[in-house]
Amino acid sequence: MNIILLGPPGSGKGTQARHLVETRNMVQLSTGDMLRDAKSSGSELGKKVAAVMARGDLVTDDIVIGLIGERLSQTTAGGFIFDGFPRTLAQADALDNLLKSQSHDLDAVIEMRVDDDALVSRITARSTCAKCGEVYNDITKPLPVDGKCVNCASDEFTRRADDNEDSLRQRLMEYYKKTSPIIGYYYAKGLLDQVDGLGAIYEVQWAISEVLDK
Ligand code: AMP
Repeated sequence: MNIILLGPPGSGKGTQARHLVETRNMVQLSTGDMLRDAKSSGSELGKKVAAVMARGDLVTDDIVIGLIGERLSQTTAGGFIFDGFPRTLAQADALDNLLKSQSHDLDAVIEMRVDDDALVSRITARSTCAKCGEVYNDITKPLPVDGKCVNCASDEFTRRADDNEDSLRQRLMEYYKKTSPIIGYYYAKGLLDQVDGLGAIYEVQWAISEVLDK
């Protein structure tokens, strides 16, 4: 089963994708993670996208389509979760073609709905384990008292450079301008389901499971 998790920054796509990886043996393909890896490796690509990401703009379609195409061609198993991709209609078209060329289907697109005020407070309180990517939140899921990640016991945590209010406002603008049209596109294809992303993490997990099991 191949699915897309769709939603504005901070809607919980990454957290839910990680849960699906653990419980359903699926493969998470996050273009945001791939771009951050490129940045921290100091590659040419990383240098090219760093300023764009820090501003909260989208990087160009050809770059992210290239990254996803490369990753898909290296992974034979199905069960993909596309997290943060596609973000434009051109990316959605490219994904259709990539999946078709490898005889994969797209089974569901899950839109995670969260209002903007909640996104601002979630994002500005977010930190991540530097080793495994486990996500924490100062209010809803504080860093462990022993200072060690619950998942991998690492004691290094980071805040994303683009998790500040200015960048978030721009990321939201990009979402409404360029990404939200793909909601209609997948609705028209009969693939769209919506879940309330505002609930507790386990409630959203249930809602997503219900969609996947129906
Ligand atoms: P994310 O981790 O998904 O929130 O992505 C972080 C940043 O990476 C975004 O604000 C964009 O600058 C860039 N990015 C990630 N995925 C895409 C994509 N599919 N298209 C364009 N830019 C992307």
